[in-house]
Amino acid sequence: MKRLSAIILAAALLLSFTACSPQQDSKSEKTEKNSKETIFQVALLQSLTQGYYDGIIEVSELKKHGDIGIGTFEGVNGEMIVLDGTVYQALGDGSVQKASDKETVPFSNVTFFDSDVKETVSGIKDINALKDTLDKTVEKNGKNMFCFVKISGEFKKMNVRSELKQEKPYKSLDKALATDQREFNYDNIKGTVVALYCPDYMDGLNTPGWHFHFISDDKTKGGHILELAFDSAQAEFDITPEFDMCLSDNKDFQKMELAKDVSGAINKVETNDD
Ligand SMILES: [Zn+2]
Repeated sequence: MKRLSAIILAAALLLSFTACSPQQDSKSEKTEKNSKETIFQVALLQSLTQGYYDGIIEVSELKKHGDIGIGTFEGVNGEMIVLDGTVYQALGDGSVQKASDKETVPFSNVTFFDSDVKETVSGIKDINALKDTLDKTVEKNGKNMFCFVKISGEFKKMNVRSELKQEKPYKSLDKALATDQREFNYDNIKGTVVALYCPDYMDGLNTPGWHFHFISDDKTKGGHILELAFDSAQAEFDITPEFDMCLSDNKDFQKMELAKDVSGAINKVETNDD
């Protein structure tokens, strides 16, 4: 039933798939034309979770599909935050650098940010409270659409993680994070949360609900958010009805069993919960 509804919604939401080898760029004209209202996704969270960390497209190509986003880099070499057209790499040592255009990307979601709804979000004591608050706005605007949210302000508490670059043969993401995750805790830090909301039918391709990354205003600190708290911040929502996905034609990628249920592992790597 879930699978069927996903297919129907996928058709209605103009989902499209393409392989991302550089020679197959005949589609880029269409993608660029539509990209203001398109979530562009590189591979699947499921392929990343199973340990497919090879880059599929270059950062230079990713930037053609959006100016805001989240993701990671080849070998899970840090967390990606795309903000105002710049791709930042929050590394496992806690530093942040601008990603090179030649760096490659095994998983990411980007779009061109277009503010549809603005609101002040107040009194957020933890990440679940933020999810509940953002859910209300998403439900008002259509819970079956995608949504990027930009939340700017001063955060009383910001707990982020990144990870050390992995070498081949790659382990699954939960095993890699078990030893190589690094956490950083900041107090009273100014910056921006970049959040992606995926509808609940996306559990075969990504993770339903919210995924949060952070970058500080001075662009020196950032990562994947595990916990946060803040008194008040400005949230801007970009409601997005189209979805475009690129896949690898690499034979190792093609051998993967991507319908395998890795939702438990995804929950573990996304939230730090056991
Ligand atoms: Zn993340």
